[in-house]
Amino acid sequence: MHGLNFDPDICVRCTTCDCVMKCQYMEYDLETAIQEHEKLVAGEQSKILTDCVTCYACEEYCPYNNHPFYLIVDRQEERGIHPVPKPIEKSQVVMMGPNGRLKSKEVSPPVMNMCFFTVMNASIRGTLFDGVTKFGGSDVFCNLMFLHFARNSTISERLPLMIENIMEKFLTPAGVDEVICYHDECYGTYTSWAPAYGIDVPFKPIHLFDYIYHRMLELKPRIKPLGVKVAYQRPCSNRLCPQTDHFVDDIFSLIGVERPKREFEYENALCCGGVPEAQQRFELSEDLQKKNIEDMKATGATYGVFNCPFCFWTLAEQVIKAGMVPIMMSDLCLMALGE
Ligand code: SF4
Ligand code: SF4
Repeated sequence: MHGLNFDPDICVRCTTCDCVMKCQYMEYDLETAIQEHEKLVAGEQSKILTDCVTCYACEEYCPYNNHPFYLIVDRQEERGIHPVPKPIEKSQVVMMGPNGRLKSKEVSPPVMNMCFFTVMNASIRGTLFDGVTKFGGSDVFCNLMFLHFARNSTISERLPLMIENIMEKFLTPAGVDEVICYHDECYGTYTSWAPAYGIDVPFKPIHLFDYIYHRMLELKPRIKPLGVKVAYQRPCSNRLCPQTDHFVDDIFSLIGVERPKREFEYENALCCGGVPEAQQRFELSEDLQKKNIEDMKATGATYGVFNCPFCFWTLAEQVIKAGMVPIMMSDLCLMALGE
């Protein structure tokens, strides 16, 4: 297994312990936070290991990029702490594993990796995605969801093979060196997790919103400003690539929508409630969903805008019941193009 690039000395010198103090799911005072984190670093039992709901956010909170969440996952796995019941974990590892049936396909730029979201294929449509060639499926699945299952070892074992598949079957024969990642989780895999574990990524990952923003700039003369209020649901996965979050505002500004302030957005975003750990705790999941919906509604938004399909599937029905329209960002952009 590839080892985590984590420096304990940075934590020793850190006096704010932001990774724990900013966590929205643990309420520790600073002294307790530092003590519990020291235990974590030392590889001892810490209540952080069982209190963590695996929301990824402390990867963003740590000002030194010292990978506090990846460390939690490593320690959970070392100590046999399972955020979800072992039978579910085992079945997910089998179900989501590579099936070895990947076929080569001729691709030409722009190329998009749909990862395991082939079910969302139809959403890559219209002028916005003209000429995009796609691939996806279990043999190119980033496997990063296993962070929720205390299975860094599964990611570490499978990711190099997935990268090899992407290169051999698609990119190398076509001489392509850039891939748009349909999901934040994929982009986070290639720009955060892989470097943290010393795994080489031989292509340039492009964030979906980076692609959408620049494509919409090209199509600017065709944009009809929508003139509506929207509320955005930031996904957990984006905590691994917070440098891309500005594209949300950039796109909204381009398509003429207003984003009234939410309590739970940007760094203060809340999990949608669909994360496996939350699903194990019914009240927690219900509470997160309720807080998100009430918060969205309080903005007076007409649309609830999503990036992650899982967030969409978790909250869409409640968004409708609250009088708003749930929509993926790409579809909102297509509306602005009159499509
Ligand atoms: S992981 Fe980051 S925020 Fe947490 S104690 Fe270490 S340096 Fe501080
Ligand atoms: S992953 Fe989320 S819940 Fe877990 S410690 Fe980090 S911020 Fe808290």
